[in-house]
Amino acid sequence: MSFKDLKLNRPILRAIAEAGYDNPTLVQEKAIPLVLNKKDIIVSAQTGTGKTAAFALPILQLLFDKQDAPKKGKKIKALIISPTRELAIQIEENFKTYSIHTNLRTTVVYGGASIEPQKDILKKGVDILIATPGRLLDLHKQDIINLDYIETFVLDEADLMLDMGFIDDVKKIERLCSKEKQVLLFSATIPYKVEQLANTILNNPERVEV
Ligand code: AMP
Repeated sequence: MSFKDLKLNRPILRAIAEAGYDNPTLVQEKAIPLVLNKKDIIVSAQTGTGKTAAFALPILQLLFDKQDAPKKGKKIKALIISPTRELAIQIEENFKTYSIHTNLRTTVVYGGASIEPQKDILKKGVDILIATPGRLLDLHKQDIINLDYIETFVLDEADLMLDMGFIDDVKKIERLCSKEKQVLLFSATIPYKVEQLANTILNNPERVEV
């Protein structure tokens, strides 16, 4: 299978080619069509399988299709939650690479860094936000972030997220988002705790295992 078979748009295909990707990985082959069909998914995949592109590419595709260019909206439409700052930064770098030929704007916010520059970027408006849970809730409490228009919510490394004690924050963030959203859960392993969380926040999910 090729990326073209996955029905991705030209600007995204161009970016993938420039990144040196020849063909989709297994998790990408399985997950991308489901995300494009607006399904909720629960994916068990380790880091290194290409799981970031498995959610980033179809999210960009869905937003690109809907984009009312040249007017740039202020609404955050995709939210990706990551347990650590390092992972959050990596995810943002991936989104930036894949969206280089689109107008879609991505930023990342995390704790342990000055909040003011993060606020300044958010105030200008972004389409896609990657965040660690604590900083996200902080910015939301300060009214800098509005999650009412989130169309896709991604929980990355869900097992690690729970191990790090973020369960209540994750549930709180999920409730702050629009009810209508699509939810994508990624986890290296799916222990009972992750399964339980999936039952509360996913709607009739498809399973992907690689
Ligand atoms: P991840 O599992 O998302 O952490 O990705 C692992 C690495 O694989 C990253 O460096 C990606 O840039 C790279 N990658 C993702 N998808 C592909 C692909 N289809 N072909 C080649 N490399 C890829």
